[in-house]
Parts: sequence; structure tokens; C-alpha cells
Amino acid sequence: MDHVETLRPKQVVISDEKYFRACVTKRVDFGPDLWMMRVRTGGEFSFTPGQYATLAVEHEGKLIPRPYSIVSAPYEEEVEFFFELVPQGALTPLLHKLQVGDEVLMRRVPKGRFSLERNTGRTNHLLICTVTGVAPFVSYVRTLHRDWQEGRFEGGHQLYLLNGASRPWEFGYKEELTRFDIELPWFKYVPTVSRPWDHADWPGEIGRADDILRKYADHWELEPGNTIAYLCGHPDMIENSKAILKRRGFTDKGTIKDELYWVPAKQVPAQGI
Ligand SMILES: Cc1cc2nc3c(=O)[nH]c(=O)nc-3n(C[C@H](O)[C@H](O)[C@H](O)COP(=O)(O)OP(=O)(O)OC[C@H]3O[C@@H](n4cnc5c(N)ncnc54)[C@H](O)[C@@H]3O)c2cc1C
Repeated sequence: MDHVETLRPKQVVISDEKYFRACVTKRVDFGPDLWMMRVRTGGEFSFTPGQYATLAVEHEGKLIPRPYSIVSAPYEEEVEFFFELVPQGALTPLLHKLQVGDEVLMRRVPKGRFSLERNTGRTNHLLICTVTGVAPFVSYVRTLHRDWQEGRFEGGHQLYLLNGASRPWEFGYKEELTRFDIELPWFKYVPTVSRPWDHADWPGEIGRADDILRKYADHWELEPGNTIAYLCGHPDMIENSKAILKRRGFTDKGTIKDELYWVPAKQVPAQGI
């Protein structure tokens, strides 16, 4: 008798030791391609503000994992993320379909070293981001806010956030961050829009985050001797900001930290997950 092999779709074995089957508990859409979601992991997940989680969805016999910075603070019961849809991407179109009650896989162990450096002697922290790159900075501020309220943070560090986007609706966390700016003596927030022409009522800064970097570094008196810069999001913003900061003397190791969300197509190596 001939040996006949039946072709079946490959089954992915998902290790419950490695992944939570997290449940989506909240979703807010800021625009057609930007949204936030909160998930309940159902287990212990401890992280440092600034770290990322690996989210994954099983699709056509494959597991598709990608890293996402955590927006929420460690004291929150759920874990929050801020997403941008990459229409030709492998994972974001699948994440974009998820609704409250759906399951998403999430690695049990967080990763990353993009945390706030509070033991270097430099007490100013210049945070620069594009769109979803605000995620780790929201986590820093939410965490310090709670620590401030409960007496664990005395306000000895100052955080200055430049938040760039093309259009005003892309900010996602502007209201929360504006409230923190008003309430907290140690936090300043400047959103800036690079394509204001469809939004004549935009009252804020105009230009990319790296365009207004020099002006605000001067205004806030941020020097390499007293400041660490943190760059998060779009690779071009990171490259431009680094060049500007280096010309201002940010050349010592540790004075610039970055979290690149993707690399331009021609240099793509494997993602750090
Ligand atoms: C440490 C870290 C943290 C991250 N945190 C977030 C986060 O909080 N929110 C978030 O939305 N993304 C974040 N990303 C990016 C995320 O991991 C994915 O790369 C992104 O969601 C695209 O995944 P995809 O599978 O849909 O696209 P892929 O199939 O991976 O990519 C398709 C193509 O699009 C390019 N690309 C990837 N992302 C973008 C983008 N945003 N704009 C334009 N081109 C892009 C890729 O380089 C590739 O050429 C983070 C990345 C890293 C490394």
C-alpha cells in the first residue's frame, strides 16, 4: 500500500509557562490607525517603567510576536499599550481586530532597559518621542505621580517631555499629560504638531519634536552635565535628535538613551524580542 501523507495546517504549541493568555478589558480608538488597549494578564507580571512586553497572536499556523512598550505603571492592575496600525505589517492588523473580551498572548517576562536613570547625579530628564513612543514616558510619569502622592518621591528629578505627532488627534495621552503638567511641579509637557494646516485651531507648538528640541533645551537650561535625554519612537526623530544633542555636548556614555521602534527597511535585522 502506498504511503499517503496528509497535509495539515501546522499547530503552534503555545507554552503557558512562557505566555499569558491575556484578556482585553478596554479599547479606545484615537483615530483610524491609533488605539490603546488594556489587558488583564491573569497572573503576576512585574516590570520597571520603560520596559516592554512581547505581544503575540497565532495566525495561519504561526505565532507572530512583537515588542510593545508598556504605558501603565506597575501599581495598576491591568497592563496598557498604545498601538499604531502598520497596514502592511504582520501583527498590527491582527491586534487591530481585537475587541474587549478577546485573548492576546503576552510573554510573562518583560524586557528592556529604557528606564528612568535616577542614580547618575543628573536630575533633569529630557524625554522626546513621536506618537506611540510616548508609552514608556506615560509609565514613568504615572509611577512617579503615585510615588509623589505617597511620599516615596520628593520631586528631586525634573521630567521634560516633548511629544511630536503629525496631527493633533494622534497624541492619545495629551489630556492626561497636560493635567500632570499643571499639577506636578517636576513635570513639563509640550505637544508639537508637524502638519498643522488642517487644524487651524491647534494652539500649541508647530514642528517636529526634533525641530523644537534646541529651543526647549535652552529654555529649560538642559545641559549635558545635568541632563539625560531619552528618545523613543520614529527612527528619523531619534537620528536627528541624537545629532542635535551631540552637537550640544551630549557625548558621554549614558547621556542619551534610545528606544527605536523600527528600523528603516534597508537595514532591517531581526527584532529584539
Ligand atoms: C522596544 C520596542 C517597543 C515598541 N513599542 C511599540 C509601541 O508601544 N506601540 C507600537 O505601535 N509599536 C511599538 N513598537 C513597534 C512594534 O514592535 C512593531 O514593529 C510594529 O507594531 C509593527 O508590527 P507589524 O508586525 O504590524 O509590522 P512588521 O511586519 O513588523 O513591519 C512591516 C514593516 O513596517 C515597518 N514598521 C514597523 N513599525 C512601523 C511604524 N510604526 N511606522 C512605519 N513603519 C513601521 C517595519 O520596519 C517593516 O518594514 C515597538 C518596537 C520596539 C523595538
